[in-house]
Amino acid sequence: MGYYCLRCKRYVEINVSGYQGVRCPYCGYRALRKGRPEVVVKTVKAE
Ligand SMILES: [Zn+2]
Repeated sequence: MGYYCLRCKRYVEINVSGYQGVRCPYCGYRALRKGRPEVVVKTVKAE
């Protein structure tokens, strides 16, 4: 499982031994979140 940047929402695959020091390689933002980017995929059944 990787991380995604909270700023540019890019998926970042890094091996993290410690959460501190994790940084987005694209924009340099330091807030990465575990998991996948929150894509708005809401399946709404309108039936
Ligand atoms: Zn970023």
